[in-house]
Amino acid sequence: DTSLRRKRTLLKVILLGDCGVGKTALMNQYVYKKFSEHYKSTIGADFVTKELQVEDKTVTLQIWDTAGQEKFQSLGSAFYRGADCCVLVYDVNAPRTFDALNTWHDDFSRQADLNNPEAFPFVLLGNKIDLHDGQNLTVVEEKVKEWCEGRGNIPYFQTSAKQNYNVEEAFLCVAKIALENE
Ligand code: GDP
Ligand code: MG
Repeated sequence: DTSLRRKRTLLKVILLGDCGVGKTALMNQYVYKKFSEHYKSTIGADFVTKELQVEDKTVTLQIWDTAGQEKFQSLGSAFYRGADCCVLVYDVNAPRTFDALNTWHDDFSRQADLNNPEAFPFVLLGNKIDLHDGQNLTVVEEKVKEWCEGRGNIPYFQTSAKQNYNVEEAFLCVAKIALENE
């Protein structure tokens, strides 16, 4: 009976951004509900998977994290190929990591071999919001919103991998917009 068979979808998600912004921490929080202060630039695997429910669909996110190669800004097309969504991450307390987003966005768009680059789904995460003291953000929010609008209205979330703030919400958005683009 085919009606009993749930529809399954595998979505490839790429995490990109400067070294130290918290890509691995976000992934570990989302997939394993773990956070570590200890810096580790490598993980053992190319990707991890996480199953979630988006309305009536069971979706498997295949999340690809970099293993420190982002220092050299060359991840290559094999890493990017077949991606369904690209998650760009910066550190809200480090303007330099926001400025680097252009390079990451362009590098991905150029190398991912996209059918329709204009319509490709990106999500932006401003991470480490827990370290922020409540005063004005170093990376001005208006600038961030402007950047997102200029790139085709990229959804934006402030996150904390440490406090598990907005992590679940952000990846649900990733799954949704990746599904819409399928
Ligand atoms: P990556 O190089 O982008 O993968 O960054 P990591 O995930 O390795 O994180 C770099 C450092 O920042 C580590 O020491 C993490 O513990 C820390 N970190 C990551 N996310 C957060 C966060 O949301 N808040 C705080 N306070 N520290 C974080
Ligand atoms: Mg990492």
